[in-house]
Amino acid sequence: MIPGTFEYHAPRHLDDALGLLAEYRDDGKLLAGGQSLIPVMKLRLAEPKHIIDINRIAGLSHIAETSDELRIGALTRERDLERSDIVRQRYPLLLDTANVIADPLVRNLATVGGNLAHADPANDHPATMLAYRASVVALGPNGERVIPIDDFFISAFETTLQPDEILTEVRIPKPNGRAGGAYVKLERKVGDYAIAAAAVQLSFAYDGTIAEAGIAVTNVSYTPERSSAAEAIVRGNRLTDDVIRAAAQAAADACEPTADLRGSVEYKRAMTRTMTARALRLALVRAGA
Ligand SMILES: Cc1cc2nc3c(=O)[nH]c(=O)nc-3n(C[C@H](O)[C@H](O)[C@H](O)COP(=O)(O)OP(=O)(O)OC[C@H]3O[C@@H](n4cnc5c(N)ncnc54)[C@H](O)[C@@H]3O)c2cc1C
Repeated sequence: MIPGTFEYHAPRHLDDALGLLAEYRDDGKLLAGGQSLIPVMKLRLAEPKHIIDINRIAGLSHIAETSDELRIGALTRERDLERSDIVRQRYPLLLDTANVIADPLVRNLATVGGNLAHADPANDHPATMLAYRASVVALGPNGERVIPIDDFFISAFETTLQPDEILTEVRIPKPNGRAGGAYVKLERKVGDYAIAAAAVQLSFAYDGTIAEAGIAVTNVSYTPERSSAAEAIVRGNRLTDDVIRAAAQAAADACEPTADLRGSVEYKRAMTRTMTARALRLALVRAGA
């Protein structure tokens, strides 16, 4: 339970952090909230020789809307999301998600950027960002690139972020017109990772049909993935009971859970169906339907 030895660096500027990453490459690891990195170091699953603490770098913690996006700095804590008026008023899916991550002690430190960069399929933000069709901004030696979230997750704990890049911002498209979202999570006890959870973001056409749907599930596949089949069932239709049931079933059919202490494959599939149906209904209610 004691990490291996490492050298600690605390740069104050992004350029310095990039320089250290370029210098140490695979031997270096960024430290944000430390809520995933420190546990894996204590278990010696990771033994970085150089820790690059980015907490002293200004400009990485913000929640601000532009004309078409919500921009969240990578160092923004879960606690900041929970307390943000912008998030509370206009991003219910994001608020739901922040509210159910771990416990208040973890949420005081854990960052949105760290949650995504860690790419744990059990983490809650990946599904939410897939449902929002968000993008992440990566800064590297050759400048900035914007990565659509669908191109970000490769596998469990693996992303398209390069070893010399820093995730600096998450961008969520601003919901237009009538829209609603929800994150519904089943956990063994408060603060635990999901047995299964579903993120849903809906926007409605003038005639009451679904113009666009984002649906993704948590901890029931090896890689965070959107439920494309469920989205296709919902898109262009009214959200009737039959459509909700069919979409939830499609999400359950497409997921690939593994049996563990949280339950059997059959149980997780059934819970994926239930969580997806509940998230769709809650998103519908929140959209004022
Ligand atoms: C008791 C407990 C319960 C938890 N429960 C949940 C839960 O219910 N749901 C959930 O989603 N998570 C949960 N977690 C996991 C944790 O909250 C998230 O993974 C956390 O948000 C990670 O963010 P961090 O800032 O702490 O990242 P860190 O631990 O500092 O870093 C994690 C990884 O991301 C990399 N990284 C961090 N920031 C950046 C960046 N800006 N650019 C590039 N790489 C970066 C680091 O190098 C490291 O590899 C739990 C953790 C604990 C300890």
